[in-house]
Amino acid sequence: MATNGYEAGLKLLEELTTDAQQIQDQLLGEILSQNAGTVYLNRFLHGQTDKQLFKKNVPIVAYEDLRPYIDLIANGEASSDILLAETVAGSGTSGGQPKLIPFTAENTNKTAMFNNLYRSVMIKNFGDINQVGKRMELMFVKPEVETPSGLKASAVSTRAFKGSGFRAILPKLYTSPFEAIICLDAKQSMYCQLLCGLIQRDEVVMIGSLFASGVLRGFKFLENNWQELCSNIKTGQISGWITDSGCKNAASVILKPDPELADLIENICSYKSWEGIIRKLWPRTKYIGTICTGAMIQYTEELEFYCGGIPLVSGFYACSEGAVGVNLEPLSKPSDVSYTFLPNSVYYEFVPVKEECVTNSQNLVESVETKSSDGDTEPVDLVNVKPGQCYELLVTSSTGLYRYRVGDILRVTGFHNNTPQFRFVGRENVALGVDMEKTSEVDLLKAMTEAKTLVDPLGFILTGFTSYGDTSSTPGHYVIFWELKAKEGNNGKELDPKVMEECCSRIEDSLHFTYRMYRRENIIAALEIRVVKQGTFEALMDYFISRGASLSQYKTPVCIKSKEALEILDSRVLGKFFSPKTSM
Ligand code: AMP
Repeated sequence: MATNGYEAGLKLLEELTTDAQQIQDQLLGEILSQNAGTVYLNRFLHGQTDKQLFKKNVPIVAYEDLRPYIDLIANGEASSDILLAETVAGSGTSGGQPKLIPFTAENTNKTAMFNNLYRSVMIKNFGDINQVGKRMELMFVKPEVETPSGLKASAVSTRAFKGSGFRAILPKLYTSPFEAIICLDAKQSMYCQLLCGLIQRDEVVMIGSLFASGVLRGFKFLENNWQELCSNIKTGQISGWITDSGCKNAASVILKPDPELADLIENICSYKSWEGIIRKLWPRTKYIGTICTGAMIQYTEELEFYCGGIPLVSGFYACSEGAVGVNLEPLSKPSDVSYTFLPNSVYYEFVPVKEECVTNSQNLVESVETKSSDGDTEPVDLVNVKPGQCYELLVTSSTGLYRYRVGDILRVTGFHNNTPQFRFVGRENVALGVDMEKTSEVDLLKAMTEAKTLVDPLGFILTGFTSYGDTSSTPGHYVIFWELKAKEGNNGKELDPKVMEECCSRIEDSLHFTYRMYRRENIIAALEIRVVKQGTFEALMDYFISRGASLSQYKTPVCIKSKEALEILDSRVLGKFFSPKTSM
């Protein structure tokens, strides 16, 4: 597609979404005929490629089921025809733990195709920003790991940022220098990327990072370091603690003494309130491009505070297993965003989930404890999903994943031509439990959305949350960690303990039937909110990154399981509040 020939991309999108069923069937046929001879598929299909046989015989699997096969490839004990993976890539996941996902050259082609279609949608809405300025995207890499068989494993984002194609376009289209992106010291990398973004502020037309947590981390970093950044710009000398030679050299290319620019930035940053700071620092910004749906929704309020009306654009839905959905209405509010799935990316199946999702008056997803409308749990094809119904996503890809559970729950919101559009609801995994009850990420996200409305009138924004099942005493209870930030106009108001107790009850009221029943029967004790100091969730992020999570792909775990992570949170507690309800 030519740079601004976005119409061709839009036309292709129309064709793909119209012929969805045919494209999906063809894709599955190709995957099966290429891979029928692999050790894995041969077990179930005995060399056959029939779709019905595939659905009947090939089991639905989670990562753990495939791990022995992936390990065989990683250990070099068997050739690539185990699953058909030429090489193996690693990826951060929502659980914070990296996992190896098969990766082949085909992924790169599919991603390029996806990017072109996505770009067409963005050009339609914002014009071709490549022609008018630069992107200040904060990008970070993770070290590559070498498997025992010598395969290189790296996070998908790392692979993309290090790719030669990306490197070639970087200086023209992005403010971040390559050397700063690949610097493994996250602090030096961030400092250098922000410094370059500030120096080139007149050129910046888009700001972003892969996930909303990354953008926010950037702004918090700026809040803590703007004086030093300004002083570097004033003198044209980078701070001594930037010792990474790549960062130092890259910054020195564009860093010249510029007292006028430094004064300007200093004036803007020394305003008491940072509300709308993005608009002031980078006045040409057309949008903030970052994923802000699902677990990232918790960051939108704080981001909007910095944005000053610049739209937050959650452009696509993607995972290490494949780039799958594009947001065709990039200007819709994060809470209204739906993704249209691309039928030529991977072969999809959708398992109806037992909870039926409905939308209440505040547009919040509610899970009702009933079976799916017709009680069916058989996976359905892409074009056969039903509006309003929630599904768990399965993918079959050309890279060795067959009927693989991605772990995401999606709700059908409508169709574009014959292709469904999905709203991201949450991860399917059970997040929390202190007895036999199971509380999912979806349940928790919904309860947080309900409860945080109570602190809003007091002038506070919920900027981070996570949870923990405390069974150190009997009965056990849920602990919710909250980081709160005072809004402009809060005027030093303190948190009212009564309101915080009300928040605890509101969370309990919003949780599912079993939770409330167990509370009534005193099998679970009163829910507790622990308010933590500002910066705690950044410290948590640092911890997970030090344990191997990718900074670019980081998502705060909705439930904490590790002792060390819990210690980080507990050592920063400012106040503890309990639900006043003795029973429900
Ligand atoms: P990773 O395992 O690091 O590849 O991250 C992929 C996961 O990130 C997906 O399975 C989702 O859980 C989450 N994710 C990706 N895109 C979105 C999105 N647009 N909205 C919400 N969550 C997303």
